Amino acid sequence: MLGIADDRALGGSVRVIVTRPADLVRAKAAVDEVLRAIDIAASRFREDSELTRLNGMAGQEVLVSPLLAQAVAAALRGARLSGGAVDPTIGSAVKLAGYDADFDSVPVDGAELKLTATTVPGWQSVQFGEASRMVRIPTGVELDLGATAKALASDLAAAAAIKVCGGGGVLVSLGGDIAVAGEAPAEGWLIQTSEDSSAAIAEGEETISVRTGGIATSSTTVRRWTRGGAVLHHIIDPATGLPVDSCWRTASVIAATCVDANIASTAAIVMGGKAESWLAANRLPGRLVDRDGHVQRVAGWPPPVANSDRVPNTL
Ligand code: ADP
Ligand code: MG
Repeated sequence: MLGIADDRALGGSVRVIVTRPADLVRAKAAVDEVLRAIDIAASRFREDSELTRLNGMAGQEVLVSPLLAQAVAAALRGARLSGGAVDPTIGSAVKLAGYDADFDSVPVDGAELKLTATTVPGWQSVQFGEASRMVRIPTGVELDLGATAKALASDLAAAAAIKVCGGGGVLVSLGGDIAVAGEAPAEGWLIQTSEDSSAAIAEGEETISVRTGGIATSSTTVRRWTRGGAVLHHIIDPATGLPVDSCWRTASVIAATCVDANIASTAAIVMGGKAESWLAANRLPGRLVDRDGHVQRVAGWPPPVANSDRVPNTL
């Protein structure tokens, strides 16, 4: 028997699962604490977040909190590992494309946007001292930590929950960005693969089992909108500053942490045809869905769990 709590935070769904149901309340409280802290540190949608303040102080050296420093470090790690496919300086580009408020407030349809291709300022232009926690972003640059902060929250929340539980196992899913910690259930953590994290758990759907680390999915099919009939979405190609025209519509990746999984899933969409060899070279199991819905599994993506072994309704 697993204990399961569902909620909403950071503009999406939250699911906490514990292997010892008696631990559920304290695990959920530990998760909530982390989510509150990440939201106030790294949300680009809150006027009062530390990230909004940092973006408002472009050109100056700013001392940031340990948590924002961790989120900035994760974003820059993503840029380094992905050769700049994941780049936190896409902040202005994602806004110009129309994603300028919490996604629930972004109109699904609207007037045409005149978008011009311009390379984003680039992550190398951000000065950051991990030890000093000093950040300086150049004037005119806005950081967006969207691709890594939610995944970091999953990792930190799972770690915080397992600490207060003092044993057993925990899974934290934030809109499908999943981190697990502690001891997995005997059959592993069963995860239904889907392009939309809000899809219902159903019999017969592809399900995999993971025991450690993290898994994340990036997709151009869920957070999308139209302007003047043109379909736009939230994953930006740093080379053009425009929503990427990728051969993949969805990428899921398994890695040692949810942060690394999310770096790779976003990078895979941006890299397009180069994603498979990059995932293989980095030994990151991936599941890529092309524009027509064909699925490509790379670098040791786990085989589906047989239906008879499934414990329904886990995730
Ligand atoms: P999801 O939100 O579906 O999990 P991702 O994890 O890929 O998708 O995160 C996408 C978010 O990351 C966007 O909403 C935007 O805030 C930001 N983003 C978009 N393109 C990039 C990019 N090339 N590099 C870094 N961050 C990006
Ligand atoms: Mg993600």
